[in-house]
Formats: sequence, structure tokens, C-alpha cells
Amino acid sequence: MTVTFYKNRFIESGENAVSIQDRAYNYGDGVYEMVRFYGGQGFCLEEHLERLEKSATAIRMKLPYSQEEMHKIVCSAAEKVGEETVDVYFQISRGEAPRLHPFPNTDSVLALFARPARSYTNEFRRSGVAVITLPDERWSNCYIKSLNLLPNVMAKQAAIDAGAFEAVFIRDGFVTEASVSNVFGFHDGIFLTHPANKGILNGITRRCVIKTIENLGYSWKEEAMDEVFFQKEVAAAFLTSTTMEIMPISKINDRDLGSVECDSPIMEVHKAMSGVRA
Ligand code: PMP
Repeated sequence: MTVTFYKNRFIESGENAVSIQDRAYNYGDGVYEMVRFYGGQGFCLEEHLERLEKSATAIRMKLPYSQEEMHKIVCSAAEKVGEETVDVYFQISRGEAPRLHPFPNTDSVLALFARPARSYTNEFRRSGVAVITLPDERWSNCYIKSLNLLPNVMAKQAAIDAGAFEAVFIRDGFVTEASVSNVFGFHDGIFLTHPANKGILNGITRRCVIKTIENLGYSWKEEAMDEVFFQKEVAAAFLTSTTMEIMPISKINDRDLGSVECDSPIMEVHKAMSGVRA
């Protein structure tokens, strides 16, 4: 069952409640989050709500609810779905107003849906996924989780069209992140990932992975991988996101990296994180 919320209330499926003049439609003028619930608990929900606030502040937008109110709405949506694993997507737009570029004098609007999560099996995870590399053609404020996702959508589709799962972005010769996930490499016993600057979205999963790497006693560096190193040399690599969790990469363009051993450091991190979630 999918549960939906718009403006100030839960709405029935099929109810025509969403305004065509919502600035999310007209301009992509808003920010969003996606949180996964495991056994009724929102995984890192507070961090997601904090990032939402940060994204909203960056675009000079006030949230329609306090953090506590947001927390309640998101949790009750997840509860209404009533499944073990639930994904809750929520976006805040700058509101509903006649289409003119300047900020309108209206309240911002929450739109949300909650649905049973589509999880990947561990078999799928261990066989890994193919990625292609593409130029990062996005703007310079990728740390904002903005509704403007056209370059990400184009890149993801290009990956699918190429028979791959995800598109990894290259900017100025370095790996930034991927179309819907962050990217890590593992080489000579060290985990590598792009610094959390304006060039990437600082994934909540990325942050948890880093903490887990530290707890397990592995080394890591916030260092962007050179495109040639990534394509030709890196020993192993993986993607991270709320919905993928940790997803090993088995192929980068034409280069096979192979499947991942159960006891590899990457799967060790994944297992340790599953423990955190359970
Ligand atoms: N980068 C991009 C561009 C994304 O869209 C996402 C997923 N929303 C991520 C990274 C991963 O973020 P998170 O771990 O918070 O889901």
C-alpha cells in the first residue's frame, strides 16, 4: 500500500489534491529526502531531517513544519504502510502560486509518499552491478538535495541504455558521485571517497559507512579518485545510498572487477551496518 500526504493531510489514492501551480512542478523549486524504515524505525531519520533543513536554508526556504512535526508525519506515514521495510519520500516546495520566477509570498508545501521498500537480495549484492562513467554536467551546489534532477535522470537512463545499473560522474578528471548514490573505492587496504564538499551530496549512508569503516579498524581517506585510477586500477568499488545500502560494483565501463567475496571488507562493512539497522 502507498500512503500519500499533501499540504496538511494524508490524502486518498486517486484524490486530485496536488496543485498544478505547486512550484515543485513549475520550477523544481524545492528540496527532498528519502528515508528507509526497518522494523518501524526510521534509519538515521534525524540526520535526514537535519539535511532537509540544511538544503532548505541553502535555497532560502522555510520548512512548513518543525523538526518534531516532520518526525511525527514521516513516522506515521511509515506506520500506515504497515510493512517490515518501508521507504518514505518527502519533498518541500516553495509553495503554490501563479507561475512567476521571484519567490512567492506563500507557505512552503510538504508532499510525501510512503511505500513498501524494494530491497536488493544479498545474492544480487554479491554479484555486484555494472557502472558507466559520464561527465558530471550538474551545477556546483550538489550538496543541496534539490528537486532539480534532470542531469541525474538523463545519466541514470544512459546507464540503463548501456546495460549498466548506475552512472558514475566525472568532473575535471575525478570521480564525484553517481546519479543516485555516492561512490567508494577500496585499494591497498584503504577506502576512498570524494570529500563532502559542494560537489557531492553528503549521503547519510556515506556517513554511516565511514563510521562503520572506522569502527571496524579500516583506514579511509576523503580523496577523490582520479578517473584513470578508477577505470583501470582500483581493486574494488561500491555505491552507497538509502535504498541500495552498500552495492558492490562488478564492472566499470569495459573492465570487469568480478563478484564480491562474502568475507571481503566491503561485505564486512555491509554486515556491520545491517547490525546497526536491525
Ligand atoms: N548522491 C546522490 C546524487 C543521490 O541522489 C543520493 C540518494 N538520494 C545519494 C548520493 C545517497 O544519499 P543517501 O545515502 O542519503 O541516500
